[in-house]
Amino acid sequence: MASAYVVSVARLQREAPAVLDVDFQAPFDAARDGGGAPPTASDVPDGSVVSVALRLESYDGGLRARGTVRAPWRGTCRRCLVTVDGQVEARVDERFVHGEPDDELAYRYQGDEVDLAPLVHDAVFLELPLAPLCRPDCQGLCPQCGADRNVAPCACRAPSDPRWDTLDALRFDVETGGTDSA
Ligand SMILES: [Zn+2]
Ligand SMILES: [Zn+2]
Repeated sequence: MASAYVVSVARLQREAPAVLDVDFQAPFDAARDGGGAPPTASDVPDGSVVSVALRLESYDGGLRARGTVRAPWRGTCRRCLVTVDGQVEARVDERFVHGEPDDELAYRYQGDEVDLAPLVHDAVFLELPLAPLCRPDCQGLCPQCGADRNVAPCACRAPSDPRWDTLDALRFDVETGGTDSA
């Protein structure tokens, strides 16, 4: 089965400079990454569909790909550990160079076809949130009783840390205007 990510650019190459708009949805290929997925707190769920809207422009020796890639992500709130869902929207501006060029920053293609899958994969993974939050003001879990403080405040009090006792005393002096300096 032909991959939706593989685009024929025969006309683009023949008529350079020319423009080709590609707009499609396809299953996200998470296994595409050669080096394994980066360690993040979020991922694209299996079977997710990614939306790709790119404009390919040919220039002498290659193609420029600009546009947007959208994909759903799922992660874990870093404070309260609930599952969080979101959308990645990655802006893309990359180059594809024909053959085996000495250009580390460009994607490669051979013949008349460009495989957009590596670009889509990289664009999505770069935008995945590293430390998701379920909402900006998430109160998190109580470190003592584990209660979800978004649901209800618990009765726990922060444990007294002897290192702060002196500081509290000092603060008390300031607040009451105490001046017992020698
Ligand atoms: Zn949360
Ligand atoms: Zn608690």
